[in-house]
Amino acid sequence: MAKKRMKVGFVGLGLMGAPMAANVLKAGWPLRVWNRTADKAEPLVAAGAVRAATATDAARGADFVIVMVADDTALDSVLFGENGLSRGLKRGAILINCSTTSPAISFRAATALRSISVRYLEAPVMRSVQAAREGKLQMLVGGSREDFQKAEAVLKSVASDIHHIGDIGKASTLKLALSLVAATMIQAFAEYFVLARKTGIPFETMMDVLKVGPLDSQQFRYAEQVVVNPGARPSFYLKHMLKDVNLAMDLARQMDVPMPLTSEVRQMLAAAKNLDRGDEDFAALLDLMAGWAGVPMRG
Ligand code: NAP
Repeated sequence: MAKKRMKVGFVGLGLMGAPMAANVLKAGWPLRVWNRTADKAEPLVAAGAVRAATATDAARGADFVIVMVADDTALDSVLFGENGLSRGLKRGAILINCSTTSPAISFRAATALRSISVRYLEAPVMRSVQAAREGKLQMLVGGSREDFQKAEAVLKSVASDIHHIGDIGKASTLKLALSLVAATMIQAFAEYFVLARKTGIPFETMMDVLKVGPLDSQQFRYAEQVVVNPGARPSFYLKHMLKDVNLAMDLARQMDVPMPLTSEVRQMLAAAKNLDRGDEDFAALLDLMAGWAGVPMRG
């Protein structure tokens, strides 16, 4: 089918969803958008997307619907709630869930959608808001290869590195495993930071040494930004990292997999959320650790 005859729906226009939807539009796909908080759709409507009145309405006539919402509860609501996508999806459409959610909800969604002849792909992403803006996300896809191949052209409008991991459940599991690495790396960076800071080592020296040594990583560069750019808008909410780590821990528990490090980081994230820091970037763990260590974040 030619791209111009195929239509896309997009639901969930948060930090990641809004720039992803903008790239779908830029790539030339006719686009209908819906977000629970309606005003977040305005820039997209101004750029040429059609504002849908409900999620059901966003699905009408769509060949592909991309969902980018917070968590399992949000996914369940936008798929199967009142005015949900399942009421508007046409037979043969492909629902692409880019949110980071559990493998269990992927299995449930795929089964329920199959009963109305709609296909399901899970397609969680790595990297952050800047990569979403540039259409350069890394994407892990779970679902049938045939569905993946059908959806690949639309996926390419938001992601530059796309991996078909395997059946449904495999991509969301791998994504959660990567999330626990991301969370533990930030905690490791925070501990590096406070130990060096306590002895008066300047932050620039810490970073210079880290950057040319064997331990450098994009994740540490991400943490660096929280120190050098304190007023910046969050890029990945701490509450979402806690959700990812909780989902990873749930999986580990189900399979009797010990995860001592992740378990410790989960405690830190839970404490930070209870200190009202859930809507900050997850790198706020640095600030929390600085407080515990009795060192200033800056200066
Ligand atoms: P966000 O800014 O918090 O956006 C969440 C979206 O979900 C918003 O559109 C929100 O609607 C919607 N939502 C939440 N609860 C809902 C409900 N009950 N019903 C309907 N809609 C609901 O988060 P984000 O950073 O874009 O992240 C989205 C997903 O991507 C999450 O699963 C996150 O873990 C994952 N992710 C994020 C990043 C990142 O760097 N930010 C990277 C990789 C993966 P409202 O606008 O109405 O609140």
